[in-house]
Amino acid sequence: MMSVPRYWRELPERSRFEGFRCTKCGTVSYPPRAKCLKCGSDSLIAYKLPERGRVVTFTIVRSPPKGFEKMVPYVLGVVELEDGTNVTVQITDVEPEEVRIGMPVEAVFRKVCEDGDAGIIEYALKFRPSI
Ligand SMILES: [Zn+2]
Repeated sequence: MMSVPRYWRELPERSRFEGFRCTKCGTVSYPPRAKCLKCGSDSLIAYKLPERGRVVTFTIVRSPPKGFEKMVPYVLGVVELEDGTNVTVQITDVEPEEVRIGMPVEAVFRKVCEDGDAGIIEYALKFRPSI
């Protein structure tokens, strides 16, 4: 979340769950990046990601970066989406001890931090357990 590109943060539409798909090798990047992580191509198109998936792995974060102090502990997980794309996201609406590998989850947009000086509210994609 800390390295989210500027153009992504400034997108007016916060509820879109989009990454980029490389037109050369098909690799999907999320968050969106300037170049394909796999082949380095800059031929990327917007790609709507599935909003459901399963937890592949996770860690419980207890020493957060600046601005996230109030949120600890929180769970940072890798979620495999229905199309096979892996995204690293925060798992929310669940006690850290209750997160399980293989747990079905769904996308939700949440406020992550407020910048007191600029009055900027940052939103980020998170995933919560789905039923
Ligand atoms: Zn590529």
